[in-house]
Amino acid sequence: MTIIAPLLARIEGFLREELGQEGAVPLHAPRFGAREAECVQDCVASSWVSSVGAYVDRFEHMVAASAGCRFGVAIANGTAALQLALVGLGIGPGDLVLCPALTFVATANAIWAAGAEPLFIDSDAATLGVDAAKLSAFLARECEHRAGRCIHRSSNRPIAALVPVHVFGHPVAVDEVWAVAAEWNIPVVEDAAESLGSRYKGRDCGSFGRVAALSFNGNKVVTTGGGGMLVTDDEDLARRLKHLSTTARVPHSWEFDHDEPGFNYRLPNLNAALGCAQMERLTDLLAAKRRLAARYAEVLAGLAGVRVFQECEWATSNYWLNSIFLPDRTARDEFLEASNAKGIQTRPCWRLLPETGAWRRAPVADGLEGARWIVERLVNLPSSPSLMMG
Ligand SMILES: *Cc1c(COP(=O)(O)O)cnc(C)c1O
Repeated sequence: MTIIAPLLARIEGFLREELGQEGAVPLHAPRFGAREAECVQDCVASSWVSSVGAYVDRFEHMVAASAGCRFGVAIANGTAALQLALVGLGIGPGDLVLCPALTFVATANAIWAAGAEPLFIDSDAATLGVDAAKLSAFLARECEHRAGRCIHRSSNRPIAALVPVHVFGHPVAVDEVWAVAAEWNIPVVEDAAESLGSRYKGRDCGSFGRVAALSFNGNKVVTTGGGGMLVTDDEDLARRLKHLSTTARVPHSWEFDHDEPGFNYRLPNLNAALGCAQMERLTDLLAAKRRLAARYAEVLAGLAGVRVFQECEWATSNYWLNSIFLPDRTARDEFLEASNAKGIQTRPCWRLLPETGAWRRAPVADGLEGARWIVERLVNLPSSPSLMMG
């Protein structure tokens, strides 16, 4: 393909010459400073390193505020948070849960861990998220209302929840997707693992669902090493989620009583200490990420056959990852090959989940044409905030 050489030349010129990056350029590296070490050392010195401590409380407040929610419950990781959200809403064995075929495997794994089964739906290339029109068509074709619930006719099982994902930080078309869910009375659990700081029509991602799950894995916008959080405006749900995450222990000074089977999913204070230091720089990280996205758009402008993914006009994305679309799978693979050979870590989209060994037998809503189109063409470019922070 003739476009690969000029594309790579522009990206190399930008990263190596303009930004002075030598050696391997990672897809996404965390940004740490003295403050992170200070908070972690302070936490160790306090001896409150486990699941109770001031950093956990502070981290919950900081993240909940950033996600536009009243309550945050810090969880060991994003997958466990998503699982707990579903369990907390009473979703489990026998239930089907709608989620995009185009997401990180953790979304489907969390549904499985809750005892339910994912049913994969299509995505829209304009947002990279759930395609509301195709979702609506699927529900009209294969489901019916029964006693206030949405029942999948052929399996006779309830569609108990919808888990939309803000892919690579880009908000889904919230109004359209939520309208379909409301019409069918399907609760929405937001997978906001990648979208800390992103907004839809001025409102924070994570504040649209009954509850949302965030991730602070090492490659996300903000990291706690490993970690996650549930955010919600529902005080009773927040209390129940915290209870479930801490072995459902009934509070008492010394007695061990547990009023239901529970999980040990609480985020340690030690990780939260790192998270507090990271959240203090969230504004700077987001500004750097948006500057990087704007520079990629400029650097790659006018290249025939290359389209830089841009946020929709109603979105303010955190641009967790910067994506480009190439003309076809051949071009995609050639560019992945050539760029990685030069030490520039580019990555394709995830494989569609129903095409992985793990989810081969899971039900799918339709032919997933939109998601397939995206996977064949999309490549993610190095997106570390440090690239624009000196
Ligand atoms: C990272 C991620 C998760 C899971 O988070 P972990 O903290 O790695 O368990 C879930 N969903 C999506 C879309 C993610 O990117």
